[in-house]
Amino acid sequence: MTDLTLALDFEGVLITSAISQFSRPGLMSFLSQCELLFGRENICVFTTVDEERFRAIADRLVANGYAPKWFSTTRYIDWVGEHKDLRFVREDIDKVIIVDDYPPYIKQTQKHRLIEIKQYMEPYTHAMPDMQDNELDVVLHRLKEFLLNEA
Ligand SMILES: [Mg+2]
Repeated sequence: MTDLTLALDFEGVLITSAISQFSRPGLMSFLSQCELLFGRENICVFTTVDEERFRAIADRLVANGYAPKWFSTTRYIDWVGEHKDLRFVREDIDKVIIVDDYPPYIKQTQKHRLIEIKQYMEPYTHAMPDMQDNELDVVLHRLKEFLLNEA
């Protein structure tokens, strides 16, 4: 297991949005694999959604079997500013990897710690979002490569 910290954005990455709250296909498996790679104490959520709302949605994901139990108590990053400064996660930003669908949030000097993921969106109609989406698998693969390159 690595000693790196994994920071996960929430909206557009793990779920559609805090409004529609569709979980991304493969979420349970992705979080479980991340736990094996990083350890649950080294995983955190770095989001613009406020903590109370994040916890409520996380509880619902756990209750419905979309996320492992530990996800509802996962570390939540309190932050301020216009960027998701990785120093809020850990002093040594080179020990952090962030998965986010919106690169402008990441400081230019920290972009080498970003794994970008395609935004998971709700459809404009009342239909379901894309259930064939496999981006979490793709990102898991990239995370493993990232870890190999840093080892
Ligand atoms: Mg996002």
